Amino acid sequence: MKLKKILIIICILIFLFGIIGSLYLILNPHSQKVNIIQNGKILYTIDLEKSENRIIEVEYKDSKNIIEIKNHKIFMADAECPDHICIKMGELKSGIPIVCLPNKLVIEFTETNEIDAEVK
Ligand SMILES: [Zn+2]
Repeated sequence: MKLKKILIIICILIFLFGIIGSLYLILNPHSQKVNIIQNGKILYTIDLEKSENRIIEVEYKDSKNIIEIKNHKIFMADAECPDHICIKMGELKSGIPIVCLPNKLVIEFTETNEIDAEVK
């Protein structure tokens, strides 16, 4: 029976996709959504997966931070802070936020997948 074979193949495919899907979730537990937070307030929520290369400028009092998104990675490109620790931290890795203490700026991955729209 040809139909039966096709049904079996479809079932196997669904099963395989299920396994691949859960494996993907296990291997990538963190979302690719990033919050840019200043002084406890979320300024931007960006989905790195969908975001194109761009530069975001954030001002704090007299200082400015230049955040860059390049090839789906986010990092502090430039900062007018005394220590420059935020720049030295490099790309944002899951679990380790980029913090610019003098400018009260934090870049970190969000833990939820609920926010779809880019907040401006
Ligand atoms: Zn800094």
